Amino acid sequence: MSDNSSIEWTEATWNPVTGCTKVSPGCAHCYAETFAERFRGVPGHAYERGFDLQLRSERLTQPLEWKRPRLIFVNSMSDLFHPDVPMNFIESVFDTMARADWHTFQVLTKRSERLAELAPRLPWPSNVWMGVSVENQRWTSRVDDLRRVPAAVRFLSCEPLLGPLTLDLTDIHWVIAGGESGHSARPMKPQWARDIRDQCVKARVPFFFKQWGAHDEDGHRVGKKLAGRRLDGKLHHGLPVVSRITVAGRSAGNQAHRAAQTHPALFSRPFHALSRK
Ligand code: SF4
Repeated sequence: MSDNSSIEWTEATWNPVTGCTKVSPGCAHCYAETFAERFRGVPGHAYERGFDLQLRSERLTQPLEWKRPRLIFVNSMSDLFHPDVPMNFIESVFDTMARADWHTFQVLTKRSERLAELAPRLPWPSNVWMGVSVENQRWTSRVDDLRRVPAAVRFLSCEPLLGPLTLDLTDIHWVIAGGESGHSARPMKPQWARDIRDQCVKARVPFFFKQWGAHDEDGHRVGKKLAGRRLDGKLHHGLPVVSRITVAGRSAGNQAHRAAQTHPALFSRPFHALSRK
């Protein structure tokens, strides 16, 4: 586990699995792959085997050792629902998340079909937020798969946003959108982001605009920092409000509010990153 994560929206990352394979266009410039492959062949380094998928059993119980409540991004360096991650390993990850109920865990996947298939066999404690990445219309079926999952918070990460999206936001609690950053970043058209914002307003779903990415709203390559994160002059940093959510016929509790109370510093500052998948 990495404490004080450099990812601004979270406090720590926990990687019981590392390595992955590409599954859709959003993976083209996967930051995790770029990072891991830098160390391939370096003896003794955690990424000696680069981005090859590895189960890290020795890390399975790490969050239990963290006494201060944290917001934890699960598998920032992989995808928990990758087909090469066995069910019993996924169950162990969920077992730790259920036991470490003073933390809040955010799990994000592009393997939504497998997620939906396995979800009935997994516990869904209210401190687990489940999300899918949706980069263009071709992959909106992931939202339908996510809807079948009884997580307290179901969220979409529309990043890197690669095309216009028409979304069914029924039973979705949070949407994040953002453009791509990095050397080969593909530009995001402003109207794509505006359309998602407007759909969220209409559906009363909190909307978070994470970043323009490497290109500004005029399509000029200026770098992520200069491009900023204002959409039509405004910051959008909506967060899920769980108190009014019902999951499978019961109240899902007040996890988002609890997270805001236990992580006040995090929730009071602007987010700059969410999906790395
Ligand atoms: S972007 Fe996510 S799903 Fe795609 S290769 Fe990277 S870690 Fe895997």
